Amino acid sequence: MIKEDFAKLRTAMVNEQIIARGISDRRVIDAMLKVPREKFVSASLQDSAYDDRPLPIGYGQTISQPYIVALMTELLELKGDEKVLEIGTGCGYQTAILAELAKEVYTVEIIKPLYEKAKINLLSYKNIKLKYGDGYNGWEEFSPYNRIIVTAAPEKIPQPLITQLDNNGILVIPEGPPGWSQVLLKIKKENGKIISSQICDVAFVPLTRKRN
Ligand code: SAH
Repeated sequence: MIKEDFAKLRTAMVNEQIIARGISDRRVIDAMLKVPREKFVSASLQDSAYDDRPLPIGYGQTISQPYIVALMTELLELKGDEKVLEIGTGCGYQTAILAELAKEVYTVEIIKPLYEKAKINLLSYKNIKLKYGDGYNGWEEFSPYNRIIVTAAPEKIPQPLITQLDNNGILVIPEGPPGWSQVLLKIKKENGKIISSQICDVAFVPLTRKRN
């Protein structure tokens, strides 16, 4: 497929999967129209890059379904001046969307070859810092963060992420056991108080832990 064909598929994806399902933040829609999702998957899957589903990216991991990327991004309410922490870089597609919409993005990936691949995929972005490591502990060095997004599901929300969230910050995270009974949460920190709302049922890969 040539570049123009991918652009057509991208526009159709945004209309049919994103706008039709209620995503209305114009900046999120524009970012989804801009970032070439086909560049983030392996050559054999490029023609499926705009399908309405997650795709494998190797090592038992997946790139999230486009709608889930748009939904989680919209929930972050990004205006452009935020410092964002992402846990679970994967192939870096969600990271690129965030980098289009925020000031700085810090992202942590626990699988070394995926971290290496994402680094290459994201070379054109100067406002992204990548780290290889266990994101359960967040990334303390650059905390606090105005926004935190987690793209793998822990059974319980890691306390370091709550700690590293700035006052008036927003955390978007799936929570629950491996499998299908996870719920996507939007958590706000207001004057030190934690306010949590349930968004919808989701199925993410589990947040794993590094053993030393
Ligand atoms: N946002 C990614 C989704 C990748 S799937 C994308 O758009 O492609 C979730 C990712 O989280 C996987 O790459 C997995 O290796 C990673 N992950 C799982 N547990 C982790 C942990 N404790 N710290 C950092 N990354 C983790």
